[in-house]
Amino acid sequence: MRIDLHNHTTRCNHAKGSMESYIKRAIELGIDIYGFSEHAPMDFDEHYRLKFNEMNDYKDDVLFLKEKYQKDIKILLGYEVDYLKGHIDDRVLHTNVDYLIGSVHFLGEWGFDHPDYIDEYKNRTIDNIWQEYFDNIESMAKMGTFNIVGHLDLIKIFNFMPKKDIRLIATPALKAIKKSNMVIELNSAGLRKPCKEIYPSPLLLELAYELDIPITFSSDAHAIGQVGFKYDEVTELAKKIGFTKAVTFEQRQQQLVTF
Ligand SMILES: [Zn+2]
Ligand SMILES: [Zn+2]
Repeated sequence: MRIDLHNHTTRCNHAKGSMESYIKRAIELGIDIYGFSEHAPMDFDEHYRLKFNEMNDYKDDVLFLKEKYQKDIKILLGYEVDYLKGHIDDRVLHTNVDYLIGSVHFLGEWGFDHPDYIDEYKNRTIDNIWQEYFDNIESMAKMGTFNIVGHLDLIKIFNFMPKKDIRLIATPALKAIKKSNMVIELNSAGLRKPCKEIYPSPLLLELAYELDIPITFSSDAHAIGQVGFKYDEVTELAKKIGFTKAVTFEQRQQQLVTF
């Protein structure tokens, strides 16, 4: 089975191409399970995400394609939700979807993964930045609301690495992820970014394997050419570490499949 559960649409204003063209590309690539996970609405950074009043249309569009292409591909409905204290909205958490991806893109109001705000790295201590990031991942896991952890070590995006052992920084978060029954995604977008490495790193993936945390696959596509990005490279890495199964979701229930 080929799975790609993290994909965007033009509704976030920073992705290109019709939803149908993404699906056609996924079918071409032999993807069996494809999930849309648009940036969920919130009252912060509103331009780069769906709006609350578009939630129904988004759902209808996904369900229309799901039906239309049911013979060729299984299409799932999801959201990528920002874990940002004070901005997490019940309308998103209680919506009827196959899964919710929980992601940390902001430390306070700092969008640390955006090139426009890269200067802020100079104003802080890198070890503290990493610690704060993984503290956020840990509290997100403890919330118990989300199904998938989005790009587990996104904080490495610009290749500013901590002096402290990353395994020590990340272990409490990984233990919380295990306890909350969440899944981590192997997200190939990192290979397109300055860090030039999959999220999470092989080091953290080994740690996740030791902790028996399940995995799934995603390309984080914001363009048609990114659907299934480096899929074989990513699944090879997972196999090398020892994983044999991946998780997909239906109505927020986990299903194990062989990849
Ligand atoms: Zn995006
Ligand atoms: Zn993201």
